Amino acid sequence: MSVENIQCPVCQSGSKPAKAASLLNIVKDDLKHLILDESYFFCCNSNCEVIFYSEDYEKTFLLEDIKLTAEMPETSGCGCNSKKDGCNKGCCSK
Ligand SMILES: [Zn+2]
Repeated sequence: MSVENIQCPVCQSGSKPAKAASLLNIVKDDLKHLILDESYFFCCNSNCEVIFYSEDYEKTFLLEDIKLTAEMPETSGCGCNSKKDGCNKGCCSK
C-alpha cells in the first residue's frame, strides 16, 4: 500500500507518515495505551479535527485527544508550518 493512497477518513486530505514514538509525545496520557507499534499517518488538513490515524483507520485521534501544550517535532509531517497563525494543531508554536 503506497502512502499516496492513504487519505484522512474524515476530510479525505492527503497524509504524511508518522511514527508511533512521535505520537506518544503528543497524545494524552490516558490514550497512550491505544498507540501500538504500527503505521500512523497525520492528516495534512489543519482545519480537520483529525490529527492522525492508524493505517487501517481502526483508530483515529482528534484534536481533543492530544495535549494542547504538545509540540510536534518538525518531522511530524504536519503540513501547516507555513501558516503559524492559522495552525490549530499545536504543532507550530515557537
Ligand atoms: Zn483530515
